[in-house]
Amino acid sequence: MIPILTYHQIDRIPPKVGAQGVRAKYRSLIVSPASFARQMWLLKTLGYRGVNMSEVMQYLRCEKTTERHGKVVGITFDDGYQNNLTHALPVLQRYGFSSTCYAVSRLAGQTNRWDAERGVASKPLMTAVEMCEWIAGGQEVGSHTQHHVNLSLIDRGIAKDEMTKSKNELEAMTGMDCRHFCYPYGEYDFDHIMMARTAGYDSATTTEHGIADSSHGVFELPRIGILKNTNLWQFWRAIA
Ligand SMILES: [Zn+2]
Repeated sequence: MIPILTYHQIDRIPPKVGAQGVRAKYRSLIVSPASFARQMWLLKTLGYRGVNMSEVMQYLRCEKTTERHGKVVGITFDDGYQNNLTHALPVLQRYGFSSTCYAVSRLAGQTNRWDAERGVASKPLMTAVEMCEWIAGGQEVGSHTQHHVNLSLIDRGIAKDEMTKSKNELEAMTGMDCRHFCYPYGEYDFDHIMMARTAGYDSATTTEHGIADSSHGVFELPRIGILKNTNLWQFWRAIA
């Protein structure tokens, strides 16, 4: 059993109501750098090691055959925000942890445009060079499609392209294998599981809440969402 944590942005929490009197949307998905640092400190203090999805998969595979060695927690970041590099990476490195950041290939160096219609503040996404810095810092890059599409709402052929081409594009940008996928909005069906397999991914994560174990399909791994208001006690209870 391996808890896989889901983060989005690690950044200063914006005020509830902005300068123009506009309510900030989806603030709950932003975790402050101080909270993130406390959570990683707790993991380290409890003897856990934060690992990327490649390592999670190794652990899940050996869970079937052998004893587990040590306590591990998977760490993932959705969407590929630049603030993961600036605020999360130094903390991850402090504790010798790794993680997987799921990037949107065609929006590298741009912003979370898919969120604009929901009124979410625009934030920069990592450029190709920044993804390389992320990897050089001991982390991993996975795919979150080319354009952050809702796979369930688009044509099958386009869905297949979004999943396959994003893998190729991220590999071209980083020079590394892109082996892990995350369904945008947590939306997928059986066809998308088959597409993930055919595209050559080793795993896919969902927004389903739960602790991953070897009974889960590798293309339907549940995770534990960490939010702005998740306190240290709730965090501990979620992984323990
Ligand atoms: Zn996303």
